[in-house]
Amino acid sequence: MPTYDLVVIGTGPGGYVCAIRAAQLGMKVAVIEKNSTLGGTCLNVGCMPSKALLHASELFEQAGHSFEKMGIAVPAPKLDLPSMMNFKQQGIDGNVKGVEFLMKKNKIDVIQGKGKILGAGKVEVSGAGKTQLVETRNVVIATGSDIARLKGIEIDEKRIVSSTGALSLERVPGKLLVIGAGVIGLELGSVWHRLGAEVTVVEFLDRILPGMDGEIARQFQRVLEKQGFKFKLSSKVTGIDSSGKTLAVKVEPASGGVQETIDADVVLVCIGRVPYTEGLGLQEAGVTLDNRGRVQIDQHFATSVKGIYAIGDVIAGPMLAHKAEDEGVALAEILAGQAGHVNYDVIPSVVYTTPEVSSVGKTEEELKQAGTNYTSGKFPFTANGRSKVNQTTDGFVKVLADAKTDRVLGVHIIGVEAGEMIHEAAVLMEFGGSAEDLARTCHAHPTRSEAIKEAALAVAKRAIHM
Ligand SMILES: Cc1cc2nc3c(=O)[nH]c(=O)nc-3n(C[C@H](O)[C@H](O)[C@H](O)COP(=O)(O)OP(=O)(O)OC[C@H]3O[C@@H](n4cnc5c(N)ncnc54)[C@H](O)[C@@H]3O)c2cc1C
Repeated sequence: MPTYDLVVIGTGPGGYVCAIRAAQLGMKVAVIEKNSTLGGTCLNVGCMPSKALLHASELFEQAGHSFEKMGIAVPAPKLDLPSMMNFKQQGIDGNVKGVEFLMKKNKIDVIQGKGKILGAGKVEVSGAGKTQLVETRNVVIATGSDIARLKGIEIDEKRIVSSTGALSLERVPGKLLVIGAGVIGLELGSVWHRLGAEVTVVEFLDRILPGMDGEIARQFQRVLEKQGFKFKLSSKVTGIDSSGKTLAVKVEPASGGVQETIDADVVLVCIGRVPYTEGLGLQEAGVTLDNRGRVQIDQHFATSVKGIYAIGDVIAGPMLAHKAEDEGVALAEILAGQAGHVNYDVIPSVVYTTPEVSSVGKTEEELKQAGTNYTSGKFPFTANGRSKVNQTTDGFVKVLADAKTDRVLGVHIIGVEAGEMIHEAAVLMEFGGSAEDLARTCHAHPTRSEAIKEAALAVAKRAIHM
């Protein structure tokens, strides 16, 4: 008899949530983690530390620039970076301890070490100089992702950093060059920009936030430029000379052409993330990967080997913590004989900058490409009472609905608190709701969420406050 019903390799949001749900459903569960702390990328070097720094740096910025206009006279704020980093670390520690507590509460064994799959039902764990064999009915690969590297550019995590190094810089760089205008690059760029760095973002594509709604991304770029960000789109970094006191970054047009050199104190390489399967023994175990190195699964998260499953960043789909969590829950329920399911059409996505950007469902580009006949309703925060009194009027809400059925297909928001506001749209879409449903739902006044109701009204050209 195997010791466990389920062994989960990796304790990121995918792995630890899967373990908890499986334990709730009566399974005997163990998790294996190679790092000294639980919680994976998200808790240790991802979502949580970045949000702590975004929060602290936003307040620093507000204290310096926004308080005065509200009649709050304070001296210019002084940055104490070690204390800000300490604030970040306290947040990480609190969350990591929370996961440890949840493991104990759910009677989940935590096995410290690196897991290697020897075959169906067998995982070898090596750590602290010893190796043990763990036997289980089912294995879940939840080993997440790692930073993507740029050929010829060596990350030293001091001057040329990944997101991990950018979360722990010892001083504010005078000039920060960010390679990649995706979510993580713009969030971390915002942190250091608010703390005083000059930020230049170099992006290979001709737009920022690839994959998000184009109109929203264009507006977002304008707002960031107003804040002082510089963008070099359709451009590529071809090398960095690090021999001098400042880094000499070679940049040229994406399609080739005249090269220029941009000086930077720190370069942040943020060109995406790749699935992490190193040392897992997948090839020997017969687990098939796809052409991008992700573990290949069927619609029930099953790999090519019976009894071995995979979830989270290591499989296809958006690399987001909540997507990994939902997959963890769905898989545990499937293993328990229930109908676990993830609705990939309704996975919200948020950029936690100022203003925030959030979206759920299809973008206009996707609808056009699919030939869907849709209608669009937009409402700007300049016409929303609460935003006006708070003087936070940048941005708008866009609701996209099927032209025939009025079913909401996508909602996109740029504006302060957009990340919290998106969820009413997600709930509506889960229930197959229409723009009319959204428009007839009473929204508390005065809230920024009224802009969502107005955008839904605008789908039928009957917004009230515009
Ligand atoms: C800077 C940054 C900011 C981010 N911000 C957000 C955000 O705001 N919102 C959001 O939704 N997502 C965000 N993400 C993405 C998010 O962190 C990931 O989508 C999420 O962590 C994926 O969860 P996971 O469980 O699949 O894997 P991970 O969190 O990567 O966890 C995998 C775990 O597996 C362990 N592991 C790997 N191999 C082995 C092995 N062989 N044996 C034992 N253990 C192993 C690793 O040590 C790790 O702890 C951010 C990422 C970064 C880098």
